[in-house]
Amino acid sequence: MMDKYLSANEARAAIVEMGHRLIEKRLVAGSWGNISCRAGQQTIAITPSGRGYEHLAPSDVVLLDNTGCVVDGERIPSSESKLHVAIYAACPEAQAVIHTHSIYASALAAMRRPVPAIIEDIVQICGGSVNCAEYAFPGTQELADAAVKALAGRKAALLANHGAVCWGKSLDDALVVAEILEKAAQIAVICSSCGGKVYELDEADAAAMHSFYEQHYSKRQMGEE
Ligand code: 13P
Ligand code: ZN
Repeated sequence: MMDKYLSANEARAAIVEMGHRLIEKRLVAGSWGNISCRAGQQTIAITPSGRGYEHLAPSDVVLLDNTGCVVDGERIPSSESKLHVAIYAACPEAQAVIHTHSIYASALAAMRRPVPAIIEDIVQICGGSVNCAEYAFPGTQELADAAVKALAGRKAALLANHGAVCWGKSLDDALVVAEILEKAAQIAVICSSCGGKVYELDEADAAAMHSFYEQHYSKRQMGEE
């Protein structure tokens, strides 16, 4: 768990680096998707709207206050700023938010189906299935509200006919959520194309795995245990 906030410069550099990693991992394409992280209790650093990740410079990253107003930066902030702001407000532990357009999460989102609780790692992270938010037009407060409702305190949600959104206790943590969510969505799509029966993990097992993850495994991932 982060005990101090990144400075504005650190946050800008970390967002640029995360953009490269999202491209490498094929979680975003072109300029779609967006990344933010906290740079203080009152400040959110966020990617600019409509700019590809390859050539993003730290100075392209925009700083917002907790209501989504620009406090520093030359560029237009992400059109999903309301989504990011709503998640920080609803999830006090969130230090970073990553919105992806990854393929398998988007496939389930196109079917408006959840990611079922059928595989261990995503269940450890989320404690059960990952909901798909009700459809809302991109960039709107309605989408932000629908996403927060679908998160229901968990670290990920699908956005109907759109993609996925994840938060973490750091940018690296949010990336783990995004990668594992995409992997779980891929497994769910494979299972449904094979037409075989899938077995959902029961709620008590899912809760136990989630608690182990929260108390131990996530700390090992961050070198704290
Ligand atoms: P921005 O380029 O404005 O961040 O928008 C991309 C996107 O994914 C909209 O949902
Ligand atoms: Zn999007």
